[in-house]
Amino acid sequence: MVKHPLPRLVFFRSEYERMVRLVELIADMGIEVGGVLFGKRVLRDVVIVRVVEPGPRAEMEDVSFAPDVEYSQRILDEYRAGWDVYWIGVWHLHPSYLDKPSRGDVKQMKRLVDAPETLDEFVLVVANWLEPGEVKLSAYYMDISKKLDKIPYAVVDNRSRQGRRLRRALLHRKEVELSWPSW
Ligand SMILES: [Zn+2]
Repeated sequence: MVKHPLPRLVFFRSEYERMVRLVELIADMGIEVGGVLFGKRVLRDVVIVRVVEPGPRAEMEDVSFAPDVEYSQRILDEYRAGWDVYWIGVWHLHPSYLDKPSRGDVKQMKRLVDAPETLDEFVLVVANWLEPGEVKLSAYYMDISKKLDKIPYAVVDNRSRQGRRLRRALLHRKEVELSWPSW
């Protein structure tokens, strides 16, 4: 099994800010849900084009988190009309003392990289709400080697030169069928 080179996670600023806003909102409600991440690997970066809200039917199960698949699929369909993006990760809130994936999270990631209908690499963003205005994000990566690694993340301004370059790299559309595994 060949391990992919470890990527860096790159958020468009709009999506980074969306996640921070969602984390503040969710923490305020005292629940630990999250959502999916749409994006694509571009060379050494996994670029996040859309951070998706939990959706009305997202559930926090005792060991891991299940997104609202129907809701997320609708958003993915909209994006795929213009962007060559895939379901490449999940994010969710953890209690403030836990910035690492739980055992259930790791199991879920292994299942996802194994599932034939999904990508063979995946990212997980663990979000901690520390205090008003202070959100901590920790990014993790797994590929078919099933080894979990912490990876760095960066934020790119949507309209910067780099942001525009990434946008061009991602706008091309290819027909690839990827569907949801059963949660
Ligand atoms: Zn978790």
